Amino acid sequence: MNKAKRRAVIAGNWKMNKTRPEAKALIEEIIPLVKDADCGVVVCVPYTNLETALEAVKGTNIGVGAENCHWEKSGAFTAEISAGMLAEMGVEYVIIGHSERRQYFAESDVTVNRRVRAALDEGLKVILCVGETLEQREHGITERVCAIQTKAALEGVTAKELASIIIAYEPVWAIGTGKTATSEQANEVNHYIRTVIADLYGEEAAEGTTIQYGGSMNAKNAEELLDQVDVDGGLIGGASLKAPDFAAIVKAASRT
Ligand code: PEP
Repeated sequence: MNKAKRRAVIAGNWKMNKTRPEAKALIEEIIPLVKDADCGVVVCVPYTNLETALEAVKGTNIGVGAENCHWEKSGAFTAEISAGMLAEMGVEYVIIGHSERRQYFAESDVTVNRRVRAALDEGLKVILCVGETLEQREHGITERVCAIQTKAALEGVTAKELASIIIAYEPVWAIGTGKTATSEQANEVNHYIRTVIADLYGEEAAEGTTIQYGGSMNAKNAEELLDQVDVDGGLIGGASLKAPDFAAIVKAASRT
């Protein structure tokens, strides 16, 4: 595998954090710290912060993403936001299938696939999250779970559209827990997911697909994780809320 063929992307997942003034202040603090990044830099923010974020990143190297989208274009879906609504605003990325959505909001492989389809149809780039629970890891079915989630999410996605998909391998047991996968564990599963992509789309497409790791990545452990040949950046929760920590991760990705 040739890491040079892929662009590392560091994406912050702010989850349900930050008011609009706080979002503006955090982005303004991040901008100068990441301006020389040699990797993609994205902040995925709550819907209420999208307009503020889009305004704040104008003329910078930072992309803006949402944390979810609905699959229908419009209609009676109270509190939902469509992919088209995001695209119209100028939003570039959307996280789909985050484990917190799967765990707390009954997100299934079927709805993940529908959301992916809708996002691609509106020209959005997707950060697709897959990953096993601790129980699944302990039962030795990590690869099976990641393969099923990946294949189901990509059902009906063409090879051309795959270029708009970033996969984030996020072991559920490592998210927000302070328990990071070892660099070997992260690389092993990222590599396995790449073989799943190769089976679906061929070797070349697999080599070109950005596969991030996410789960308690921070300023201290980023370099070792990002050094791994199959780890192409990260999806960052907690550490993305502190500008110096987020910038340190971006710096680590820019070196690898
Ligand atoms: C996430 O929310 O995708 C995540 C990886 O969170 P954390 O970095 O806090 O574990």
